[in-house]
Amino acid sequence: MNFIDKVQVAAVAGDGGDGKLSFRHEKFIDKGGPDGGDGGKGGDVVLVASRNENTLAAFRFQKELKAEDGQPGGTNRKHGHSGVDLLVAVPVGTVATAADGTVVADLIHDEQRTVVARGGKGGYGNAHFVSSTRQAPNFRELGEQGEAATLTLELKMIADVGLVGLPNAGKSTLLNKLSNARPEIADYPFTTLTPNLGVVDIDKSTSVLFADIPGLIEGAAAGKGLGHDFLRHIERTAVIVHMIDAYQEDVARTYLTIRGELKAYQADLARRPEIVLLNKIDGLDEEIVADLLARLKGVTARGSKVYAVSARSGAGLRDMLYAVKTAVVKTREKSQEKAAAEEVPVLRLADQSQQWHVEKRGEIYVVSGQRIEKFAGRTDFGNEQALRRLRDIMRKMGIMHELVRQGIEAGNAVSIGRETFKY
Ligand code: GDP
Ligand code: MG
Repeated sequence: MNFIDKVQVAAVAGDGGDGKLSFRHEKFIDKGGPDGGDGGKGGDVVLVASRNENTLAAFRFQKELKAEDGQPGGTNRKHGHSGVDLLVAVPVGTVATAADGTVVADLIHDEQRTVVARGGKGGYGNAHFVSSTRQAPNFRELGEQGEAATLTLELKMIADVGLVGLPNAGKSTLLNKLSNARPEIADYPFTTLTPNLGVVDIDKSTSVLFADIPGLIEGAAAGKGLGHDFLRHIERTAVIVHMIDAYQEDVARTYLTIRGELKAYQADLARRPEIVLLNKIDGLDEEIVADLLARLKGVTARGSKVYAVSARSGAGLRDMLYAVKTAVVKTREKSQEKAAAEEVPVLRLADQSQQWHVEKRGEIYVVSGQRIEKFAGRTDFGNEQALRRLRDIMRKMGIMHELVRQGIEAGNAVSIGRETFKY
């Protein structure tokens, strides 16, 4: 399995539909009432975590995630249809990060969803602007642009069981024996360059996801070895299954080497429940096995369980799976309790949308600010009434006053967002 775990995509929400500028056509009436409808909202781009997805490989070919635009408003006050949200299925464990490094989505439960780009609002049609003083508004709003963001999607694989051990300990063989995954098996180190996943059905009610992590070597946690990049895939696992080749010269030292790697990477990993497997006991004398087990038990972390197994013959695997199940079920219960307790209100930053700023750059007066820029984006600059409305808003917000204070004169250029017009 070619495991792709980090990709860059462009999330582009739908633009809002333009409002319609229209007047009712009625027989014998020269100009009927304004009846231009509002544009529809643009679709959102939504990431949806799914247990059915295992990799981010699909995004090698699908780089742009574009939601549908809203439809323009119609005559007869007809609303434009909203653009359909784009639901993007990603594996559970996907983290989306914006270009500036902020995490915009961290999807850890099946079916959890997060909007990563918001669709633009639809523009109002001219019918919307009818008032007692404005009987025949001859302008409409444009739809707002949808948000667009470059996102890095990264899969933090949430395996229940992280399988660790030196190269050739027998990790792939174990996974092969237990699950539907078919990792490659060979006799040289670093066979497994990418984590292999395997779903293991322990009994009717419990399936657990095993991740065979590429062979760790000393120094991997310091970035020297191949294992380091992949260690993060086991950051959230419930239990570490630590496999040791019984034919190693010194099983106790081998054990401590891997423990050192786990600790160097993240102290927390070393505190995870651990099940130690002394592998390849097929063909070994009972006394030798007992002796090796005793040596291992002398150095294992407190609370660790140690089993003698053969990934090849299957000996001892049933007991070890029972221990895995107990650990996984316990962790799942705990994380559910924690998720329930963590549902606290989200803190929001103070509303800065009303703030604005005027600055003279050369001959141009540059107006910035979230609300006014959005407003300008919705303004049809080719239409005198629409411009007048924009000026009204600027007056109400106090921007006109500031422009005058900074010495603006008729005919000077004012720029807001992407638009420039004459004062
Ligand atoms: P990994 O690097 O940890 O994934 O190890 P592999 O699963 O690729 O196994 C390395 C070698 O050990 C292969 O030649 C396997 O056939 C062998 N092996 C794995 N498990 C056993 C076992 O239980 N008994 C014996 N005798 N050999 C095993
Ligand atoms: Mg392997």
